[in-house]
Amino acid sequence: MSHVSVQLVTVLGATGSIGKSTLDVIARHPERYRVYALTAHTSKEALLDQCKAHSPRFAVLDDDADAQWLQQALRQAGSNTVALAGQEALCEVAQAPEVDTVMAAIVGAAGLLPSLAAAEAGKRVLLANKEALVMSGALFMDAVARSGATLLPIDSEHNAIYQCLPSEHRGGLAKHGVRQLLLTASGGPFRGWSAADIANVTPEQACAHPNWSMGRKISVDSATLMNKGLELIEACWLFDATPEQIQVVVHPQSVIHSMAAYDDGSVIAQLGNPDMRTPIAYGLAWPERIDAGVETLDLFQVARLDFEAPDETRFPCLRLAREAMQAGGAAPAVLNAANEVAVEAFLAENIAFGAIPDVVAKVMALPYPGQADSLERVLAADRWAREQAAHTIRQLTA
Ligand code: NAD
Ligand code: MG
Repeated sequence: MSHVSVQLVTVLGATGSIGKSTLDVIARHPERYRVYALTAHTSKEALLDQCKAHSPRFAVLDDDADAQWLQQALRQAGSNTVALAGQEALCEVAQAPEVDTVMAAIVGAAGLLPSLAAAEAGKRVLLANKEALVMSGALFMDAVARSGATLLPIDSEHNAIYQCLPSEHRGGLAKHGVRQLLLTASGGPFRGWSAADIANVTPEQACAHPNWSMGRKISVDSATLMNKGLELIEACWLFDATPEQIQVVVHPQSVIHSMAAYDDGSVIAQLGNPDMRTPIAYGLAWPERIDAGVETLDLFQVARLDFEAPDETRFPCLRLAREAMQAGGAAPAVLNAANEVAVEAFLAENIAFGAIPDVVAKVMALPYPGQADSLERVLAADRWAREQAAHTIRQLTA
């Protein structure tokens, strides 16, 4: 297809679940996409294999020694890819002038600076890294507006809502005849469980999601419903919505990825098999459509769609996130950081699953003195909440 120009793509977090799915879609369309840079935290062998397959100009790891190892291995393989290390290199490959598109798929607060760098540089930003938006929603959306970046949500629910809204939807939902956003949730692996049984599940149980295969942090977030809480905050920023305009609907089949309800009674939904390559392909090709390698949904096999209300007593994280968004300021950054520390402690088997919401609630209840009106202040709130969460966990385990 001669009318299509080749997009140069940087994949931040290339070795993760979203990163791998992104490279799978890219590999299906060599005439459309070429890889400019791939990044990973510590998985140097996986990154080396990806470099051999995709020949990026740059590959970035966290640590200098790892990058030296990678550079040597690349040279031995006859590759011209240049290996770099550290946070600054991450930001450079996200904002380089040659780059058209950045897939922001680093997990957690670690993704904030490079995701923001891509937004500030006016890229097509495919945003999977929801934590970046939760921490710094106002700053992030301002950067997008100022630079003229194209922000396309990759989180399946937000991608679905994006597809269900009019193409111009800024300026508040009411202006566009939208009454409510219906954010669907699978309910996670412990949906029907009693609070007592949920309290002591293992990391393996928490990471075994019924419908989606994902990284460990988001899998735990899905099990606590903090993922839905983070997504509620994410939706508020992406679609100019208030928390009250968003209804969470538990839908165990994960076939409807979310919906928009209009003033005239219409409810528009986006459906599909639960496979992240669909929203990724949507983001890469928008406003066109390309093959994602995903089968068409077989409704006869799905047979039925169920819906229920979320239970915020057994899953308090959803309520905590809504309260953080309503409080505004630094509260979402504090919530996010406390959650990241609590999830890490749970995965390291230092605290019980049931203690995750307790840690977040304790940190949220402490008065945070600062604001979140600059990047420095957001990062300060993040550091403060991490210290408070670590302290709370030490008390719990003493
Ligand atoms: P993952 O754990 O599978 O992968 C994370 C990637 O980030 C890896 O490449 C890792 O090397 C890199 N990384 C981790 N820590 C880093 C650090 N400190 N510095 C630099 N790089 C670092 O995670 P995932 O499941 O692919 O999720 C990535 C993001 O996408 C998360 O924000 C998640 O919430 C979001 N997301 C994921 C899914 C999914 O289906 N997996 C769906 C929706 C949203
Ligand atoms: Mg999601």
